[in-house]
Amino acid sequence: MELKDNAYCIQGVQLQQIAEEFGTPVYVYDADKIVSQINTLKDAFADLPLKIKYAVKSLTNLSILKLMRQNGTEVDTVSIQEVKLAMMAGFTPEEILFTPNSVSFSEIQEAVELGVVINIDNISILEQFGHTYGNSKSCCIRLNPHIMAGGNHKISTGHIDSKFGISYYQMRHILRVVKTYNMDISGLHMHTGSDILDAEVFLQGANILFEAAMEFPDLQFIDFGSGFKVAYKESDNTTDIKKLGKRLGAAFRAFCKKYGRDLEIWFEPGKYLVSESGYFLVSANTIKTTPATVFVGVNSGMNHLLRPMMYDAYHEIFNVSNPGGTKRLYSVVGYICETDTFGWDRPMNEVREGDVLAIKNAGAYGISMASNYNSRFRPAEVLVYKGKAHLIRKREEMEDLTRNQVQIEM
Ligand SMILES: *Cc1c(COP(=O)(O)O)cnc(C)c1O
Repeated sequence: MELKDNAYCIQGVQLQQIAEEFGTPVYVYDADKIVSQINTLKDAFADLPLKIKYAVKSLTNLSILKLMRQNGTEVDTVSIQEVKLAMMAGFTPEEILFTPNSVSFSEIQEAVELGVVINIDNISILEQFGHTYGNSKSCCIRLNPHIMAGGNHKISTGHIDSKFGISYYQMRHILRVVKTYNMDISGLHMHTGSDILDAEVFLQGANILFEAAMEFPDLQFIDFGSGFKVAYKESDNTTDIKKLGKRLGAAFRAFCKKYGRDLEIWFEPGKYLVSESGYFLVSANTIKTTPATVFVGVNSGMNHLLRPMMYDAYHEIFNVSNPGGTKRLYSVVGYICETDTFGWDRPMNEVREGDVLAIKNAGAYGISMASNYNSRFRPAEVLVYKGKAHLIRKREEMEDLTRNQVQIEM
């Protein structure tokens, strides 16, 4: 995003114009930013056989999936529906990793039949997989290395209380199952949380995977999951991808030497690829001065962007319509009948009723977590691609709210 002729622009297209053309609330994504994030990650691991498995759940629009494919990523999915969406976007089954948690074995079978790579995070599923397929189908094992990582408890998945993965303390049990059914284990995986700042944490987990890997002679890849931290404020520290590439790359090469063969190195970034590409545009409906603050009430809420309420996530907000206005302090709140605050005490250029505000870092876990709470329509989505704004999802309408309801005689 850039400020050009006193107007906020993405690839030269004014955000104000997008709001006028497509209405608000609307999610806007910058394709160039997504591509540059992909390339930064590729560059950091340039001399290794890297595969980027985009975590589809963070932003699932088909046009985004196609953009990912066009730029050489593959995908990580967590539901059979995501698998099918990825295939609709053109990914081949071999390019799709399926990493579900707490799903029935029948959902896993459906994915196997489609030909996708299965990542197993439970010993009972591993046993059923072995019993059903023997060594006729390969699979990956998700290990829980039990390292504490990630921004907060809700988004951390590697700790001892976590439901994710098979504990690496259960290695003997895993090996018994694998040996009994003569299973073909093609990969080992970890994903220890989100908002991990420190390359050291990845290295700790990596060392545990490297040790475990020596027990599996037929591996093709090691998957280090994701959790790269991105900037939410200008002053924020972020995961240093270059440094990670250097440190983890060196450790990986040393491991491959010991293992006796070169393996592929996989990551599954969601937030890292799409968070900063997204701007959620809303309109200021009301300005209300109370004894405590000045509230800006906008035409959206936790139904469209849940992260501030669910994870106490900080999202920067700026006034698109009045870039030259005097800075004043505001609290930005939604229109849902619950306390849905987007941000307290935010200095913004003076906000007038009708102004368009932009909420930053809205690419990941924005619309993909949106709901119809308060019977509101889910927003439209726009992708700025090659210098032009394209509608990639229509705003919902009244019939979308009633489509699946069945009215009975009364
Ligand atoms: C959610 C998830 C990711 C993506 O995490 P980000 O923090 O968005 O990068 C990757 N892998 C798995 C298995 C996940 O569940």
